Amino acid sequence: MELHGIGIGQGVAIGPVVRMSDPLPEPPEARSGLTPEQEGERARVALAAVAADLTARGARAGGSAQDVLEAQAMMAEDPTLVDDVTVRLADGKTAERATFEAFAAFRDLLVEMGGYMAERAADLDDVSQRVVAELGGLPAPGVPDPDHPFILVARDLAPADTALLDLDKVLGLITSDGGPTSHTAILAREKSIVAIVGVTDAAGLSDGDTVILDAANSLVNSDPDAGALTAAEARIAERAARADAPIGPGALADGTAVPLLANLGNADGAARAVELGAEGVGLFRTEFLFLGSSSAPTVMQQQEQYTRMLREFAGKKVVVRALDAGADKPLAFLNDADEENPALGLRGLRALRANEDLLREQLTALANADATTDAEVWVMAPMVATVEETEYFVSLAHELGLKTAGVMVEVPSLALLADRVLAHADFASIGTNDLTQYTLAADRMLGSVAGFQDPWHPAVLKLVGEVGAAGAALGKPVGICGEAAADPLLAVVLVGLGATSLSMSASALADVRASLSRFTLEQARLLAQAALAADGAASARTAVTDAAANLTVPA
Ligand code: PEP
Ligand code: MG
Repeated sequence: MELHGIGIGQGVAIGPVVRMSDPLPEPPEARSGLTPEQEGERARVALAAVAADLTARGARAGGSAQDVLEAQAMMAEDPTLVDDVTVRLADGKTAERATFEAFAAFRDLLVEMGGYMAERAADLDDVSQRVVAELGGLPAPGVPDPDHPFILVARDLAPADTALLDLDKVLGLITSDGGPTSHTAILAREKSIVAIVGVTDAAGLSDGDTVILDAANSLVNSDPDAGALTAAEARIAERAARADAPIGPGALADGTAVPLLANLGNADGAARAVELGAEGVGLFRTEFLFLGSSSAPTVMQQQEQYTRMLREFAGKKVVVRALDAGADKPLAFLNDADEENPALGLRGLRALRANEDLLREQLTALANADATTDAEVWVMAPMVATVEETEYFVSLAHELGLKTAGVMVEVPSLALLADRVLAHADFASIGTNDLTQYTLAADRMLGSVAGFQDPWHPAVLKLVGEVGAAGAALGKPVGICGEAAADPLLAVVLVGLGATSLSMSASALADVRASLSRFTLEQARLLAQAALAADGAASARTAVTDAAANLTVPA
């Protein structure tokens, strides 16, 4: 049987299923035999123990896992939450019940906020479970530890668990919940764990079942025959050989250079990205530095963070995106309006323009960091919809001392007028995640319309082609920095449509590098034509897969 979900990365894994135990039951409503003060003391001790444990796990894990675990530790000691627990204890509840209820209320609030905040609900649930386990003297919920390699099947994985997975034993990961931007997905991508999230039928998988997890095709084969197992083994071996191949700059088979860059949210992932061959940064998502902040960061704070990143890439290009606040990335200090459709609201450059001081401060901090480091800094604005906005941003960035300023193409209107946009901008970078969302009119955060969020759609590719053609005519670079660039075959199509560089999570670099090296520019253009001629995303993918199989691989 085939189960479908959202594949993270391109990996394949085969192994026996081990299921994660189900969450602890809800603590009963029974009244406590202790005084509220005694229960309060129990709650305080348990919350502190959980916070300390999460902090210690973070220190062991390092990297962005540490940030996530420290954020969770802070949730456990959040004063508003502790106050709420105290209020509930005064009603005669047990510490277990009061913490459970307080966390649940906080969780509902996050879910209501939607977007990035809603994705943090799972982090909060995990803290709640840990506290209840601590109070009951039970082991913290977590990953089973059998004495053989296995495929872990869980409802969702808490960051605390994902961060510390024993990668020698966990061959792959299947979750029934979670979307492509959940922490499980982000950390799986960062650690190159073969994973499929959102497999709604995963409940049907039992301990010991041998499954094939095919992330590249987003499916789980739950009763593979001998032929399927042999084919999957061959793919695993091919991928291992690619990962071991010498790392050189990205290029097509005819030598056409296609620089391969990394998408990063902070400097922590920089060393690994360089190790994996990133030739620079194609998208530095600056908002991730400030997601937890309740006030705008100061110029000095920003300058420090930008300097950290730029130092890691001396002599290389770093494309910095101005704060992209709103919709899936709300920032408390920028997005306070109650909007019915935040993805169509005051987000990205619109929000920055409405708070121009903030934009000026960010560009100033970046120009200062640029002046004291050796990276080649480019800056770009997110969610730009008009030529006028392009002119506004580019001239402001130049005025504040940044030499190379461009725009992200995420809104169809900008792609359709790419020739006029690129007459003003120094470069364009196509954000295929948002471009797909706006072209197909499908909220990228909404599971029920996830099927529309496919950058293989010829309508999206046609818009990419418009930008590529304008870039070529005007001699301006056109990068791709959405998830589409991480799909090895689609990457070739994007180059065929005129993309001059590709930026992706560092873990995707090896597969994309290998794929580009199989085709000449002429062949990439032929594949792009095959995709454009299709009626929909699935047929474009099939047409290109078939056409690629028929092309002779150059010697
Ligand atoms: C995009 O929209 O494709 C993009 C790269 O930006 P983000 O995913 O951060 O919105
Ligand atoms: Mg975007």
